Amino acid sequence: MKTDCIAEETTLREALARLDASGRGVLVILSEGGEVRRTVTDGDLRRLILKGASLEDPVRGLPPRVPVTAPQGISRVEALGIMDEYHLDHLPVVDAGNRLVEIFDRKTLSKRIFLSSPHMGDLEREYVDEAFRSNWIAPLGPNVDAFEREICEMIGIKAAAALSSGSAAIHLALRLLGVGSGDRVFCSSLTFIASAAPIVYQDAEPVFIDSEPETWNMSPKALERALAEAKAERKLPKAIVVVNLYGQSADMDPILELADYYGVPVVEDAAESLGAKYKGRNSGTFGRLGVFSFNGNKIITTSGGGMLVSDDSDLIARARFLSTQAREPALHYEHKEIGYNYRMSNILAGIGRGQLKVLDDRIEARRRMFDTYVTELSGIPGIEWMPEPAWSFSNRWLTACTLDPTKSRIDNHTLLKKLADDLIEARPIWKPLHLQPVFKGCSYYQHDNTSVSDSLYDIGLCLPSGSNMTQDDIARVTGKIRSLVG
Ligand SMILES: *Cc1c(COP(=O)(O)O)cnc(C)c1O
Repeated sequence: MKTDCIAEETTLREALARLDASGRGVLVILSEGGEVRRTVTDGDLRRLILKGASLEDPVRGLPPRVPVTAPQGISRVEALGIMDEYHLDHLPVVDAGNRLVEIFDRKTLSKRIFLSSPHMGDLEREYVDEAFRSNWIAPLGPNVDAFEREICEMIGIKAAAALSSGSAAIHLALRLLGVGSGDRVFCSSLTFIASAAPIVYQDAEPVFIDSEPETWNMSPKALERALAEAKAERKLPKAIVVVNLYGQSADMDPILELADYYGVPVVEDAAESLGAKYKGRNSGTFGRLGVFSFNGNKIITTSGGGMLVSDDSDLIARARFLSTQAREPALHYEHKEIGYNYRMSNILAGIGRGQLKVLDDRIEARRRMFDTYVTELSGIPGIEWMPEPAWSFSNRWLTACTLDPTKSRIDNHTLLKKLADDLIEARPIWKPLHLQPVFKGCSYYQHDNTSVSDSLYDIGLCLPSGSNMTQDDIARVTGKIRSLVG
């Protein structure tokens, strides 16, 4: 920054040379005491010379101009507001004594850090190009077949159907399990709405199950109570949708044991947990059916897409049938039941194949990111990280934590607001579905005397976790949080 400052005695020649060297396009003239006098650009100096000034004259000859400055500690959003208002690309930041602290420039300042943005590898374009070359621009083709095969090999499952979204995969799963009008379906409460919306598409009734503190996922205790009560009412659910939150598997053994005991099939919503493991086995392979999402914010993406997987190849064959408008094998398009247009396009499957090749790198990067947050923010009172039980290998899709407002200097809502003011996208933990207005009146089974999902939502947050964040980005986020919380 020193190189961007000049004294009032500096000559025009030297000032022009300094402008050339700095490349910023602006210099700040400081008084002897270090106060900001004005800013000066190339154009200012040229106009002075045109009026007859010599290159050896001092910049003091520039007409005085009250500089637009920003106070130290100003947020990025506010600073950009000032720059917009005065049509500036640079803004000197000054302390209480009007001494220069730093110079903001618009390009650096306006860099936004996202929660989780797409991160392409080297091969996606080749698969997509191949689809163009061979004119397979359709919701079927070699990339779709290969993407399904490659997922099956990678996670160790028999069959997969590539679909237009994770939501479509959940919807098909429920349809395949015979969920229909008036049926009940149990579902984790602490999740994104897409886990439960398809229950309503099928005109069935969602019943929400709380989380347990150990995994933040479905509480086997709450599930046990819900199943026992349902059995007594002779209204067992048609399916249980178990969610693996933020890349971490639910505690599958006790959940599957209960489901088996009551004879209810499990749909594993592994939309967020591709590549994660439970007791060494791949996430998404535990239920009767498993679901992945390749939406733009997920750990790998096809821009939009999903996958339904199962060890029951017949179920997946029927999923393919239903996802292509339930077309009977006849030239004239015979239909005996209603299906959907849910297949994945061959172009997007090409992106998926490339992304699958870098999945391990992405998981490693996200896990490293989690470790960095923990190291950099350790010692902040009241902060606790989403736990990872010994049996779990989370893909750490999002780094999630809680901030106890009785111990921390700042609560999670204020922190989120301050981060947003600094163009850092962080989010609260999912609002539990039993609290959503649209699900008002639905039954809910909490973990014990307290609702775990409510308290996680109250004090939790997800930090920026994209695998394409730079070291500088991470340092910016941790630095900002430390300055606010520490
Ligand atoms: C993203 C997500 C889905 C839905 O996937 P889409 O591909 O966006 O339809 C479902 N469940 C969970 C838990 C998700 O995070």
